[in-house]
Amino acid sequence: MKIGQFEVDVLIEGTMKIDGGSAFGIVPKPLWEKKASPDEKNRVKLGLRQLLIRSRNANILIDTGIGQKVSKRFREIFAIEYFSNWIDRLKPFGLSPKDITHVFFTHLHFDHSGGATFAVADGSEIVPTFPNADHILQSGEWNEACVPNERTRASYFFEDFLPLQNEGKLRLVSGDQEILEGIRVRISGGHTRFHQIIIIEGGNSQVVCPGDIFPTSLHLHTAWESAFDQFPQDTLECKKILLSKYLNAEALFFFGHDLEDGLKRLIGTMEKPVAVSCE
Ligand SMILES: [Zn+2]
Repeated sequence: MKIGQFEVDVLIEGTMKIDGGSAFGIVPKPLWEKKASPDEKNRVKLGLRQLLIRSRNANILIDTGIGQKVSKRFREIFAIEYFSNWIDRLKPFGLSPKDITHVFFTHLHFDHSGGATFAVADGSEIVPTFPNADHILQSGEWNEACVPNERTRASYFFEDFLPLQNEGKLRLVSGDQEILEGIRVRISGGHTRFHQIIIIEGGNSQVVCPGDIFPTSLHLHTAWESAFDQFPQDTLECKKILLSKYLNAEALFFFGHDLEDGLKRLIGTMEKPVAVSCE
C-alpha cells in the first residue's frame, strides 16, 4: 500500500492464544465468545503482526513480535505458532534484518519487543536482531519495563530489550513528536503508562498504529478492553479521541493482533464503529 512517499506492508510472525477473559476484560463471555470462539482452555487466538514501512532512505518496523527465544513451556502456555522468522519475513521485500534503519516500539511487552533480539546459535549471547537500527520508544516506557512490579513483570522480559541498550541501539524519546518526516509518535497511556501510538502520514492519507489500545478490531467496541490494560479509563479516553478523529476519514488502522488482514478503514458511528478490510 502506498501512503505518500511510503510503501506500507503488513507482516505476520504467527499466532498466539491468550485467555479470553484477559483479552476482553469486563465483557461477559456469552458476548465475546460469539466473536472469538475459545479453545478447551478458554484461550482465543490472536495474530502477531508488524508493519514494514519503506521510503527512499529508510526501512522502518513498527513492533517486532515475540521472537524465538521463549521457552518450550512459554510456547505451550500461549500456543505460539510461528509462520516465519525475521529473515524470511523480510526476504520477499529484498531486505534482511541489517537493512532495517528504525524500529518503533508501541511498548515493550514481550509480544511487541521479543523479536528485537535473538540468541546466537551456541546460546552464549543475546544480541539485537536489527544491528543497524535505532530502536525508538518512550523513555517512560523504558523506565517502567526496567523496574516492573508484581502485576507487570510477567509481560516484560529483560532479554528482549537490555541487549539493545548494551549495544547503544536505543533512542528514548519523551512526549509527542515527529521522529522522521511523516512519522509521529504520541503517548496514549492506557495499556501501559507510556504506551505510544505511531502515525504515518503521506499525501492525504494516514496509517494509524494504535498498538494495544486497539489490539484487534473487536476492541473497537469502546468497553471491550483487555485486562492487561494498566489504566483502562485512559484506554477508553484514547479510543474515543482516535475514533472521533479517524472514523470515516482517509485513514487506515493497523490492528496488530487481528487474525485477518491488519490494515482497515473505520466506518460507522462512535457507538458502532466498524473496521472494513482494504487489503
Ligand atoms: Zn500485544
